[in-house]
Amino acid sequence: MKILVINCGSSSLKYQLFDMENEKVMVKGLVERIGIDGSRLIQKVEGKEDFLIEKPMSDHTKAVGYVFDALVDKENGVISDLSEIDGVGHRFVHGGEKVAKSVIIDDEVKKAVEEYTKFAPLHNPANMMGFEACENLLPNVKNVAVFDTAFHQTMPKENYLYALDYKYYEKYAIRKYGFHGTSHKYITQRAAAILEKDIDDLNIISCHLGNGASICAVKNGKSFDTTMGLTPLEGLVMGTRSGDLDPTVVTFLMDAENMSTAEINNELNKKSGVLGISGVSSDFRDLEENANEGNERSGIALKMFANRAKRYLAGYIAELGRCDAIVFTGGIGENSVTMRESIMEGFEQFNIKLDKEKNNVRGGENIVSTDDSNVKIMVVATNEELMIAKDTQSLIK
Ligand code: AMP
Repeated sequence: MKILVINCGSSSLKYQLFDMENEKVMVKGLVERIGIDGSRLIQKVEGKEDFLIEKPMSDHTKAVGYVFDALVDKENGVISDLSEIDGVGHRFVHGGEKVAKSVIIDDEVKKAVEEYTKFAPLHNPANMMGFEACENLLPNVKNVAVFDTAFHQTMPKENYLYALDYKYYEKYAIRKYGFHGTSHKYITQRAAAILEKDIDDLNIISCHLGNGASICAVKNGKSFDTTMGLTPLEGLVMGTRSGDLDPTVVTFLMDAENMSTAEINNELNKKSGVLGISGVSSDFRDLEENANEGNERSGIALKMFANRAKRYLAGYIAELGRCDAIVFTGGIGENSVTMRESIMEGFEQFNIKLDKEKNNVRGGENIVSTDDSNVKIMVVATNEELMIAKDTQSLIK
C-alpha cells in the first residue's frame, strides 16, 4: 500500500510518499512560494539527483498538480501512475473539541476545521486547500485528516481550562488544546515498544523540543497535560515564540507601542523567544556557539529555555504520580547533547540521573539515563509523517 502525506502551510507544501510494506519513504518533496513569484518544487529520491520544477503556482491546486507530475515523472518519479496511491494523509492543525482522533475527511470534519480557523487563521485554511486540491485531482482516493490537537483531547478539565470566567469557555471554547499531538503520540508508541511496556499502563513525559517546542505529560498512554495552549504560543520558550508571559505584558506593549492585535501577535510569535533574548539567532547551534564565545545574551537565552523546561518537567512528574520515562525529541531534543544535560541538571536529587557518556548521542532511539536512575531518560527521533501515514493506512483499510 502506498500513502501520500501532505503538510500544507500558507505558501508551502511538504510531501512524502510511503511504501507501507516496509514503512519506507519513497520520495520527499517541498513546494515553496505558492501564490508568490518564484514558485518552485524540489523533489528528493534516494540515489537520484534532486528534481526541480520552476513554474508559476498560483494556488495549492496548481502546486498539488505539479507534485503529482513529479511523482509520475518518467525519469525522476517513483510511480508510473497516480492510481498507485491508495490514500492521502493530511496534517491539520486545529480540530478543537470536535476531533479527538484521525478521521476520514467528511462534511463534519470540514465544519470543525472551519469553526476552529478562528484559533489557527493561517494554518487551517492552508490545510483545507491541500485537501481540496487532492479531492479534485484524485477523486477516487480517500483523504484522512490528522490533527495536531487530536491527541490532547483526553486531557482532564482541570488541566485544559484557563482560570477565567467559565462563560468564556462556554461562549468561545477558550481553553488549552495543545499541539504537536502527532509527535507526542508517535513518541508514546515508540517508548512503549522500546521499554516493552503495555501502552495503557505507560506514563511518560514527552519533550518535543524544536523550533516550536512543547512538553506533554502522558498518563496511561494518553495526553494528560501539555504546555501549548489555545494556540502554539503558550508554554516553553521557543525559537521565536515567547511562551508563557504575564498577560499584562501584552496589554502594556499594545498601549505603549501603539500596536494592533496583528502586530503584537507577530511580535510574540516571530520576534520573541531565544531570538528576541539573544538578538542573534533562533537556531540553537548558533546560540551554543555564541555562548561558548562569551556572548552573554545567547547564554541567558539558553538558560531561560532550560529553566522553563525544568519547571514543567518537575510539575508533570508530580502530576503523573509515577513517571516511567522522560523522552527527548525534535531538532533540539534529538541533537543538543548540552541542552539535554542542562535540562536534567538538578533532577539528581530525585534520583533521576542522566548518564553523560550515554547522552553523547544524536537522534536514533537511545536510553541515556544511568542504570540506577528512578526514571528512564530517552532520546527518540520523532517521525510525524510516518505517524500520519500509519493512521491513514489503518483508516482506509
Ligand atoms: P525542528 O523544528 O524540530 O526541525 O528543530 C529545528 C531546530 O533544532 C533548529 O532550529 C536548531 O535550533 C535545532 N538543532 C538542530 N540540530 C542541532 C544540533 N546539532 N545542536 C543543537 N541544536 C540543533
